[in-house]
Amino acid sequence: MNTIQALIKKQKAFFRTDKTKDIAFRLDALQKLRTAIKTNEKQLIEALKVDLNKSEFEAYTTEVGIILEEIRFTTRHLRSWVKPKRVKTPITHFGSTSYIYPEPYGVSLIISPWNYPFQLAIAPLIGAIAAGNCAVIKPSELTPKTSEVLGRLIQDIFPEEYIVVFQGGVETSQALLNEKFDYIFFTGSVPVGKIIMEAASKHLTPVTLELGGKSPCIVHEDANIKLAAKRIAWGKYINAGQTCVAPDYLYIHQSIKHDFLTALKVAIHELYGEHPLNNEDYTHIVSEKHYNRLCSFLDNGEIFTGGKTMENGFVIEPTVLTNITWEDPVMQDEIFGPILPVLEYSELTEAIEGIHKHPNPLALYIFSESRAIQEEVLNRISFGGGCINDTVYHLGSPHLPFGGVGSSGIGAYHGKGSFDTFSHGKSVLKQTTLFDIPFRYPNVKNGVNKIKLFLK
Ligand code: NAD
Repeated sequence: MNTIQALIKKQKAFFRTDKTKDIAFRLDALQKLRTAIKTNEKQLIEALKVDLNKSEFEAYTTEVGIILEEIRFTTRHLRSWVKPKRVKTPITHFGSTSYIYPEPYGVSLIISPWNYPFQLAIAPLIGAIAAGNCAVIKPSELTPKTSEVLGRLIQDIFPEEYIVVFQGGVETSQALLNEKFDYIFFTGSVPVGKIIMEAASKHLTPVTLELGGKSPCIVHEDANIKLAAKRIAWGKYINAGQTCVAPDYLYIHQSIKHDFLTALKVAIHELYGEHPLNNEDYTHIVSEKHYNRLCSFLDNGEIFTGGKTMENGFVIEPTVLTNITWEDPVMQDEIFGPILPVLEYSELTEAIEGIHKHPNPLALYIFSESRAIQEEVLNRISFGGGCINDTVYHLGSPHLPFGGVGSSGIGAYHGKGSFDTFSHGKSVLKQTTLFDIPFRYPNVKNGVNKIKLFLK
């Protein structure tokens, strides 16, 4: 038995003790996690600086603060979420009552990516703890410093039979996937998502897949141009575009293209200065491979603004590309970097049909003052989630479950969504013993006719 197998065996045995099902145990675990994050806040922010050059502001808002808030929200509501929910009972079941009991799956596996290496490992863990599961976390190998702090933080507060972190790359991930877990929660790319689902299918393990794809941002002719430009610049260039729900590309109504792009340039300079390459608070690209991949797009179409790069540290300016078509290499896959290609349309239908030719997006953004236009887009395009007149912001609400649809993912989480994701809803009928309705038994006289009064 190797280390991984031994640990999973230990976790399964610990789960069987039923300790994790105790509400006080779960609340205590969440409290411990919250305290440890606060204690390690400085180390986490430093690690994120080393791994990705994240500024303190970005590190706190998108990694630490958002998680503290998620724990607070979960802690506040957990007592009501764990209660069995009474549901209606049909007349055919007269005498009985019906309930849904949320129960933990058991031992869950959480595999996370590098772009928000702390947030995307811990946010699912909050759901796993809240629902009463044990957990194995495999953080990203591409952000080693943050993964190290995360591993130490977890090790300091939880015994390994409850929650454990396995460091490593693809091989570790694959070794974990060979084992039978009770739930797998994966965040990462579409191709790896397919590998995860295939591995899970061997054990019939249920999965949540939080994947990616190209998320469109439509700017209609009646949009509030200045505000749209600022909110798009923010959502696109935060974390240097390495955000799963960043606007991947723009679809702009041609009548406002000039005014909008001018406003976008101003917004970029306001947020990152005239020389973003020298801005100490601007996030870097995670690796040389991703840096080279992104640089290869810079000769697509024309550079409207940005375009400068710095190999030392892997930095790419916030860039906008115009004269782009769907045939350009930059439009083939998720960009995942600070490069924003611009497509144009004259009728909204063109934009909608363009989007329809591609897989369902994880996110979609529409900037328009018209309710009819907003509703048309919502009605005609299937996407994971999104915003009207904003970008990325939906992700921060615990009341909006976050996830994809089609190839952008399966399942959703955040807030109660996380608790539901890591819980199986056990349906239970509680039958009376005071009387017994005779119709269902085969020896009842005129049985079919009587049953037909109810089942019709
Ligand atoms: P990735 O799929 O390459 O890696 C994610 C995790 O899977 C890592 O821990 C990695 O070690 C592991 N992994 C990689 N190859 C594997 C394999 N062959 N077998 C088993 N495990 C393997 O993703 P990434 O590059 O770390 O992250 C970027 C991608 O993640 C983007 O596509 C982005 O859109 C997506 N993403 C989605 C969300 C979301 O919430 N939907 C959030 C962040 C990122």
